[in-house]
Amino acid sequence: MTQHFDYICLGAGSGGIASANRAAMRGAKVLLIEAKQLGGTCVNVGCVPKKVMWYGAHIAEAMKLYAADYGFDVSIKHFDWNTLVQSREAYIDRIHGSYERGLASNKVTLVQGYGKFVDNHTIEVNGELYSADHILIATGGQPTIPEIPGAEYGIDSDGFFALRQQPKRVAVVGAGYIAVEIAGVLHALGSDTHLFVRKHAPLRNFDPMLYETLMEAMAADGPTLHTESIPKSITKNSDDSLTLSLENGEQYQVDCLIWAIGRHPNTANLGLEHTVVERDAHGYIITDGWQNTSAKGIYCVGDIMAGGVELTPVAVKAGRLLSERLFGAMPQAKMDYENIPTVVFSHPPIGTMGLSEPDAKARFGEDNVKVYTSSFTAMYTAVTSHRQPCKMKLVCVGPEQKVVGIHGIGFGMDEILQGFGVAIKMGATKADFDAVVAIHPTGGEEFVTMR
Ligand code: FAD
Ligand code: NDP
Repeated sequence: MTQHFDYICLGAGSGGIASANRAAMRGAKVLLIEAKQLGGTCVNVGCVPKKVMWYGAHIAEAMKLYAADYGFDVSIKHFDWNTLVQSREAYIDRIHGSYERGLASNKVTLVQGYGKFVDNHTIEVNGELYSADHILIATGGQPTIPEIPGAEYGIDSDGFFALRQQPKRVAVVGAGYIAVEIAGVLHALGSDTHLFVRKHAPLRNFDPMLYETLMEAMAADGPTLHTESIPKSITKNSDDSLTLSLENGEQYQVDCLIWAIGRHPNTANLGLEHTVVERDAHGYIITDGWQNTSAKGIYCVGDIMAGGVELTPVAVKAGRLLSERLFGAMPQAKMDYENIPTVVFSHPPIGTMGLSEPDAKARFGEDNVKVYTSSFTAMYTAVTSHRQPCKMKLVCVGPEQKVVGIHGIGFGMDEILQGFGVAIKMGATKADFDAVVAIHPTGGEEFVTMR
């Protein structure tokens, strides 16, 4: 017998949980289906465990780099990787519990199992059939592994979070958020870490000031960066170590190799062939800007969406807005994918929103773009022998100098950007920034005092 719901959410990650809860709050009878763990990528193998590791790295840096010049006689006798992992996993367990309680209080039915479409309105899980007028696909993505000889000897970001021992020598391959973040954490925690990027820089699509400063910081106190380095093959040695061979002939011996070269969507085994849902050439689901797929009554949000932005708050907001549109009194509720602030938890962290300087010049013309910058040493580090750079940039356009890009790298940038995001979203100009009194002494004050 088929059980009928108003709304089925396939995948209980960032987007699915947010949308299911909001729909239930608006009175819908909701079924949420999850194949693995509640919370999806972000909670289990993404943002949350990453940030805990990053905080661990912070403590290590404070002791190793800065404590002595602040007068502390700190000697680290031992760092126990497993204690950090256990604290992290216990925290994640508590998040699972809180999600379960939230879903139960909203009366969302949760089914554990792998869901597959059998037609446009019906999903099969564990041999049971469930139908709904509205179905959300929020099945996220998974790490990509390259197709080169020996690639299987490497692990991915999921494997990184499964490590129960700290690797001594590590190669991280990739140039995006994950590669930069994992390499930074491993280095700070004491692994001999090498980051291999295939072009001239990591994060090369970000504003050049950001990746240039990041490379400067890496050269001073970071993982060893290898640019223009394309992996050719991996071999396993008799002592279980790995040899990474690059196309340029160089070889590196490591204990662990981590692929962080991007992700691909979880659309392959969803039974989408039984629906009229259209995908792009890479398997991402095509939507119309309102989260509608090409099948009436089927929607998608999050990492699975073609042309989306792979960030948790994006999946969450899109999921909630969709539920407001379908079940709330907000027929015009629509996600705005423009001007999304984001942070890379690098060392130091990067905060960025809007257009980079080159992108702004390409779109509006060199003469219409005015750029303001600030460069200083983060005060936290300025009194120590490990001085860390802090750089900021405002990209402004037109005679009114509307701020179309805000970028910063430096101590505290992870927390600085959110509030400025409100200003950018409201269309703030340079004059609006200047009208604000600075908070002193902070890093953020530079954004309102640039000349
Ligand atoms: P997911 O969270 O991936 O959830 C999809 C869920 O669907 C999964 O639980 C999966 O098991 C389930 N599923 C798949 N197929 C089926 C099926 N057929 N039936 C039932 N269930 C199914 N974003 C940030 O904003 N900040 C960060 O700091 C950040 N750090 C990250 C660090 C790492 C290492 C990674 C990998 C990602 C990070 N992200 C971060 C990105 C963020 O995790 C994703 O953008 C977000 O989780 C996407 O949410 P989603 O709902 O689309 O998918
Ligand atoms: P990204 O897509 O961000 O970066 C992967 C990069 O790896 C590519 O841009 C490319 O850079 C490089 N690459 C691709 N293929 C290869 C290859 N075969 N060999 C070597 N390098 C290759 O993917 P990530 O996996 O880092 O992250 C996925 C997404 O998750 C991010 O885009 C982000 O949206 C989200 N995320 C967000 C975080 C946050 O908010 N702090 C943290 C982690 C993830 P190039 O072309 O320059 O070589």
